[in-house]
Amino acid sequence: SIQGVSRTFVSPKGQATQALLPVDFDVQENDFVTILGPSGCGKSTLLRIVAGLDHPSSGRVLLGGRPVEGPGADRGMVFQSYTLFPWLTIEQNIRFGLRERGMPEAQQKERAAYFIAKVGLRGFEQHFPKQLSGGMQQRTAIARALANDPKILLMDEPFGALDNQTRVLMQELLLGIWEAERKTVMFVTHDIDEAIFMANRVAVFSARPGRIKTEIAVELPHPRH
Ligand code: ADP
Ligand code: ADP
Repeated sequence: SIQGVSRTFVSPKGQATQALLPVDFDVQENDFVTILGPSGCGKSTLLRIVAGLDHPSSGRVLLGGRPVEGPGADRGMVFQSYTLFPWLTIEQNIRFGLRERGMPEAQQKERAAYFIAKVGLRGFEQHFPKQLSGGMQQRTAIARALANDPKILLMDEPFGALDNQTRVLMQELLLGIWEAERKTVMFVTHDIDEAIFMANRVAVFSARPGRIKTEIAVELPHPRH
């Protein structure tokens, strides 16, 4: 539940940038919500606040009724840049959070194998990120986020760096996973086709010079859903 969340950045010289005007909306369990709007309208800022990587200037975010304070394993993040640990193999990357949590090794391996299969990376377990294509690295990032079993998956332009053909494959892959695993997803994009294709709800942000306006929530009676 996003309640009156806004963000103003103040530079060391005291200059204020209003990155996000107050936003109110709720994401329901199992929703696939896309946040659509042009560059600079505050989409990443909102997602980072939900992730607990930034704090709002006003308002609050509740997750399952509890205020979000800092990052947590209940929120899985996938960014445009793949942010894998380059010194760890694909399997080690996916097991990272599970190991941190102290999950027994056998269980880590089983869980990693499940999600490696899910994203189509079987056979690449012992590769390092640099040895794989962008699409495959992003598959790894998605598997890593899912392996931690977050309440909500937060994705910031996750396919923005991929070529068209790979992007379409990844969109289909993510929707398949979303349908099979019944995950709640918030997905930021500036691509209107992608926003409409992926979501069952679209939150539309509009930005005009000198003024940011936030408009929320178009319900899509998409046959897929
Ligand atoms: P979007 O994700 O929609 O492209 P952002 O959330 O990245 O937009 O940015 C919204 C506005 O806030 C932009 O004008 C951006 O320059 C500004 N902004 C974002 N982060 C910071 C920051 N750390 N300091 C100052 N301004 C910022
Ligand atoms: P995607 O990005 O959709 O995962 P790619 O275009 O990256 O697909 O790769 C196409 C195919 O090329 C993959 O399915 C994989 O079998 C093969 N491939 C890609 N990178 C490597 C690699 N480093 N070693 C072996 N096979 C690879």
